[in-house]
Amino acid sequence: MSYQLETQVAIKAVTLAAKLCQQVRQTIQAEAIEKRDRSPVTIADFGSQAIICKLIADAFPNDPIVAEEDAAALSQPDMAPYLSQVTEQVRSILTEATPDAVIDWINQGNGQVGSRYWTLDPIDGTKGFLRGDQYAVALALIEDGEVKVGVLGCPALTLVGDAGSLLVAVRHQGATITSLAGGDPQPIQVVRSANAANFRFVESVESGHGDQTQQNAVAQAVGITAAPLRMDSQAKYAVVACGEAALYLRLPSPKTPDYREKIWDHAAGVIVVEEAGGKVTDMHGKPLNFALDYKLTENQGVVVSNGSCHEAVLAALKGA
Ligand code: AMP
Ligand code: MG
Repeated sequence: MSYQLETQVAIKAVTLAAKLCQQVRQTIQAEAIEKRDRSPVTIADFGSQAIICKLIADAFPNDPIVAEEDAAALSQPDMAPYLSQVTEQVRSILTEATPDAVIDWINQGNGQVGSRYWTLDPIDGTKGFLRGDQYAVALALIEDGEVKVGVLGCPALTLVGDAGSLLVAVRHQGATITSLAGGDPQPIQVVRSANAANFRFVESVESGHGDQTQQNAVAQAVGITAAPLRMDSQAKYAVVACGEAALYLRLPSPKTPDYREKIWDHAAGVIVVEEAGGKVTDMHGKPLNFALDYKLTENQGVVVSNGSCHEAVLAALKGA
C-alpha cells in the first residue's frame, strides 16, 4: 500500500486546521472553557476538529475517526454564541460551514477503534496553545494496530522557517519536514552519535504530565548531561525525529500512577520518529498497542529515542 491519497488528504486537512489555529491565536484572545475532566478546550480545538473530520469523512466515508473532542457541550442552547464563533472561524476556511454542519463534522470524530481508523488530536498541547508556546495538530491512520500514516502540524516549531513545521511519515517510506507555508519536503533523521554527552532530552512543560524527577535521573543514568528541553505537545516527537534531541521521556506522574495515555497524543508522533530511524516503546519496552481502545490500555509511560540509546534507557528504568 502506498497510502498516497490518505497522505495527500491528511496533509491538506492538517495544513488548513493549523491555519485556523494560528488565525485564532493571532487575532482573537483565545479563551478556554473547561471540560468535564477539567482540561481546557478552545474555539480552535473545535474548529480544527471540524475541518479535519470533514475532509477525512468526505474522502474516506467508511473510515471511523477517533478524535479528542465532541460537540455535546457546543450543542447546548447557552453555547450558541460560542458555536457561532467556531462557525465563523471554520467558514473562513471552508465556506460551506454552518453551525449545524460544524456540529456534524465535529461529531464525525466520535468513531471507535477498529481494524482501520484515523485518530486525531485537533490541538495537542492546548495549554501550550493558550500560553503562546508549542502545540500540534496531530492526525494518524492506523491499520491492524499499526500506525501507517502520520501528519503532525507544529505551527510554533520554526525548524524550517517562521511559518511552522509540517512533519509527514508513511510506513516504510520515511519521514519528511516542510514549512507549513509550503515548499519541498526534506527527509529527516534522528541524531546519530555514539556520545550521549552530546545528547539532549525533552519532556513536558506540565509537570503533572510526567515524572520530571525520574525522567532527569534516567537521562543522567544514560550519560545525558544537558538540562532538559521542555515543550508542550507532540512537537517533542518532532524534535527527536529531526535530531534536535535524542530522547523524549514520559513516565507516569506520581500523582496519576494509573494514567493511561490517549492514542491521539502519540500515534502521529510515533510514526514520524520511527520513520526517521528512531524507536518508541512504553517504559517497560513494549510496543504501543493502538488496536485496543482510545487509551493505550496495555502500556505505561512512553520512551521515544534515536534508537541507539533506547536499550540503555530501558535498562536504567528497570534498575530504578
Ligand atoms: P504534553 O503537552 O506533552 O504535556 O501533553 C499534553 C497531553 O497530556 C494532553 O493532550 C492530555 O491528553 C495529556 N495528559 C493529561 N493528563 C495527563 C497525565 N496525568 N499524564 C500524562 N498525560 C496527561
Ligand atoms: Mg493532546
